[in-house]
Amino acid sequence: MKVSGKKAIIIGSGVGGLATSIRLANKGYNVTVYEQNSYPGGKLTEIDRNGFRFDAGPSLFTLPELLDDLFIESGKAPGHYYSYKQVEIITRYFYPDGVQISAYSDPKRFASELEDKAGEPSSNVLNFLSYSKEIYELTKFIFLDRSLNVISTYLQKGTLNTLLNINKIDALRTMNNAIESKFKTSKARQLFARYATYNGSNPYKAPATLNIIAHLEHNCGAYFLDGGMHKVTESLYKLALEQGVQFNFGKEVDGIQVENGKAKSIKIGKDIYDAEIVVSNMDIHPTYRRLMPEQKAPERVLKQEKSTSALIYYWGMSKEFPEFDLHNILFSGDYKTEFDTLNVKKDISDDPTVYIYISKKECPEDAPAGKENWFVMINAPHIDGQNWDELIDRSRRNIINKISQTLGYSIQDYIEFEEKLTPELIQSKTSSYLGALYGNSSNNMLAAFLRHPNFSRKIKNLYFCGGSVHPGGGVPLCLSSAKIIDGLI
Ligand SMILES: Cc1cc2nc3c(=O)[nH]c(=O)nc-3n(C[C@H](O)[C@H](O)[C@H](O)COP(=O)(O)OP(=O)(O)OC[C@H]3O[C@@H](n4cnc5c(N)ncnc54)[C@H](O)[C@@H]3O)c2cc1C
Repeated sequence: MKVSGKKAIIIGSGVGGLATSIRLANKGYNVTVYEQNSYPGGKLTEIDRNGFRFDAGPSLFTLPELLDDLFIESGKAPGHYYSYKQVEIITRYFYPDGVQISAYSDPKRFASELEDKAGEPSSNVLNFLSYSKEIYELTKFIFLDRSLNVISTYLQKGTLNTLLNINKIDALRTMNNAIESKFKTSKARQLFARYATYNGSNPYKAPATLNIIAHLEHNCGAYFLDGGMHKVTESLYKLALEQGVQFNFGKEVDGIQVENGKAKSIKIGKDIYDAEIVVSNMDIHPTYRRLMPEQKAPERVLKQEKSTSALIYYWGMSKEFPEFDLHNILFSGDYKTEFDTLNVKKDISDDPTVYIYISKKECPEDAPAGKENWFVMINAPHIDGQNWDELIDRSRRNIINKISQTLGYSIQDYIEFEEKLTPELIQSKTSSYLGALYGNSSNNMLAAFLRHPNFSRKIKNLYFCGGSVHPGGGVPLCLSSAKIIDGLI
């Protein structure tokens, strides 16, 4: 239904906030976004310095149709805003014993590679990808496309299908238990367990339903956006402006004001801005604690264990490295210990798994000739009283050692430019509580039901989008949160 001239306010311009602003503008709302930073995109931003350009946050692009749909539904051709291609090698994996495995985007070729290099029967790989696809097909309708918290979701045929096949979504054992039952080699097990980190979880605790993530990458495909991931933000921002959304940057919202059970306005300093609808794209935890401290908060949701954070180095390298591809994983020697260190000790292992993303491999203008732009990331615990200076110094040395050992020569002297992003900076730059990248972790069976819904049960006209609420973190799910709000309003 089209409304005309009703005012909607959005707090924050992350992917979720941008997508919601477009959807509400398309509905006829007069939409204003208030963003504390001087730029849109939140975590999905870029660094452009000394001739090097880095995607500062997300680097892997999956489910591009979710982005395309938003442009098409807005009456625009996605191709006028961005273009992308499927990558041939999704990730190059490096194991401590020197074995390298290329995860080809063609599932059969990938399965043969795992058989040749790791001794894992290719049939196990293909069977796993079918199992992962089945979970996706059973859960998409109820968990990803709709609110779990409205009755109408449970009255539809698609939900009935999920409920009738509930055992197939494999929620009663851990990801790792399922993986151990399906693969015989430690290399294949480590490779598939890694997908838990895509939403900041622990494969030794998270339900096997999360094995769905392998399907998104290996059956649906991994893509590279020409110009890098930041094109998502640029394109959404451009579309939002075209649809009439107004942006106010450098404006930190201090409060959401509620009157007679309805969200009525937001507060910035002494200024009050009224609206018919308020949407918070801020992490759900500070939305309650900082913006509405007088309202009763959903404690059970807010007290869930948080997802992991990350330590990222943006390194301008003074040479090119043909050994590496677009996405590279240098695995730790002991995955279980690595996750215990992260989740139990809230520390970073001295042998961390290192992820290196080099957009220059696809986008030559991202670094000067003969040089490369490295995004180097390791998982880090969320903030919990650590001595970050010590932890960051120690981890930097460990990362450099690990990469140098993998290559067989030291990389130290090739680092000519450096910036970093730490859990504390993630918290301060985007208000992500405790620096968690994805809000709550999914380390228990009920986690999907303990994410905050996209609306408030107690306060009318108040909605929530982005990675800390349903359906979860990551660019595709943030886009879905905006679509769910669109359906709810
Ligand atoms: C290093 C890193 C790597 C990642 N890799 C991937 C990946 O490869 N693939 C993937 O899909 N996802 C990845 N993610 C996760 C992905 O970036 C996030 O899930 C997604 O971008 C979050 O979007 P969001 O809508 O929740 O908003 P956020 O990006 O969290 O932005 C929230 C916005 O709200 C603003 N805000 C907060 N409080 C206020 C206030 N009081 N007033 C005004 N404005 C406010 C913030 O400034 C911010 O701009 C990664 C994240 C990081 C940090």
